[in-house]
Amino acid sequence: NYRCRSAFKLLEIDDKLQILRPGLSVLDCGAAPGAWSQVAVERVNALGTAYSTPSIQMHAANCPRTRRPDIADPAVPTGFVLGVDLLRISPLEGAVFLSEADIADPRTLRTIQSLLPAEKVDVILSDMAPNATGIKELDHQKLINLCLGLLSLSRSILKPKGTMLCKFWDGHESRLLQNRLKEQFQDVRTIKPQASRKDSAESYYLARLYKGK
Ligand code: SAM
Repeated sequence: NYRCRSAFKLLEIDDKLQILRPGLSVLDCGAAPGAWSQVAVERVNALGTAYSTPSIQMHAANCPRTRRPDIADPAVPTGFVLGVDLLRISPLEGAVFLSEADIADPRTLRTIQSLLPAEKVDVILSDMAPNATGIKELDHQKLINLCLGLLSLSRSILKPKGTMLCKFWDGHESRLLQNRLKEQFQDVRTIKPQASRKDSAESYYLARLYKGK
């Protein structure tokens, strides 16, 4: 059971474009209530409980001598998930949460760095959305600014060849964000998941192969 329907957007994007896999480390920005983090925990094997292949699973289930269905395969790498949000996020097994933290606050970067197991992550996810004022152009601009801020954080926390997936609301500055992403990533595409309500202006940029330093 996912905490929020938004999980289906990430599942849909990941099924199609394979951004998450066992062993990767993920920063989930705007993580509350935690549905994307639930998906990330499963897909990167943050709990270390995955089996490597169906054949091993079959073997474990069918062979009486090795029947240990509760034993994970250590060959499947274990990933890591850190979720950050302005709001409080209820605990989730397999994820580390930094609640009541503003991603745009420079102090947050230092806290994030202190919580990561390595210096940098493989994937930055952002489903962040500012409180909508209802003034479309203003909301658009606020979200673009959040994404641009996140892009500048990438320099400190994203591994070379890493991935960034970020939500935006379409408007006149979308192209500016897209161009900035193109400067820093080799592959940038726009995604409009089926699971996003048809009436919303919400889309995602998926930026892959971070050029880094
Ligand atoms: N992906 C989440 C899930 O699946 O549960 C849903 C995210 S919700 C659409 C957007 C979140 O972005 C809100 O919880 C909001 O508090 C958060 N947010 C907005 N601005 C933020 C900021 N500056 N720093 C951190 N989080 C922020």
